[in-house]
Amino acid sequence: MKEVCTLEVNHISKIYRDDGGEFHALRDINLSVHAGECVGIVGQSGSGKSTLARLVSKRIEPTEGEILLNGICRGKMNHRALNAYFKDVQMVFQSPFDTFSPRMTIGQYLMEPFLNYKICTKKEARDKATSLLEMVGLNARDLHKQPDEFSGGQLQRVVIARAVALRPKLIVFDEATSALDVTIQKQIIELIMRLRKDHGFACMFITHDLALTELICDRVFVLHEGVIIEEVCMASGFSRANHQHTQKLVYTAQNFSLENRKCV
Ligand code: ADP
Ligand code: MG
Repeated sequence: MKEVCTLEVNHISKIYRDDGGEFHALRDINLSVHAGECVGIVGQSGSGKSTLARLVSKRIEPTEGEILLNGICRGKMNHRALNAYFKDVQMVFQSPFDTFSPRMTIGQYLMEPFLNYKICTKKEARDKATSLLEMVGLNARDLHKQPDEFSGGQLQRVVIARAVALRPKLIVFDEATSALDVTIQKQIIELIMRLRKDHGFACMFITHDLALTELICDRVFVLHEGVIIEEVCMASGFSRANHQHTQKLVYTAQNFSLENRKCV
């Protein structure tokens, strides 16, 4: 029997159109993410990584192709299935500050998914929010605080807590640690890896940092100008990469020190 992948991206293309004409951001993308797997997407700025993230998380529609979650084609989903999709696929972006509405407390932010999906009462949601905060190394007192009382690293912990709240099948991290300094980045990566182990979600980890993918990913797809040019298995690492553009990325990555990021 064919194994059902958590995520299957089949022949996806995305064309952005405006008055100036059209731009092919992605062409014929094919990839899969298996249950519990961590798949990296790397590529230079502008190669189409965030477009892929937005497609997978259903923030935009593909021009061509289909995306399947647990073997079900996303395009054929009814309202109920779509709601389940939004529950099963979560996103964590680069800037946690953009994720919060002004004047929303951390507690309200963390309770929202439970209340929106009518999963439990308000009191139970508050208890769950407290547990989530503790799970990411914060505490109950933080429930009443506002986003501007936190550092970027602390806020990214809160965003990750909410992403995990409804036990998703897949979390897409789009440059989720890129804006943080190296020490905080290391802590957030450790947190993601611990939660992944405890909760078993699959990851799509989007970054321009190859060294990081070697540490945490099982496989990596290399994007170049909207096309996947290579899939690299991280058991053998980027030293086995063939494509000249991948080798260029590897050269850039070698300028980073790996030593202080060996955290997982
Ligand atoms: P990356 O995340 O790899 O930096 P993006 O997916 O953000 O790349 O962008 C890929 C290309 O698509 C870029 O050239 C970008 O300018 C273009 N692009 C992204 N979003 C839009 C949009 N809404 N309209 C037009 N072009 C876009
Ligand atoms: Mg991007």
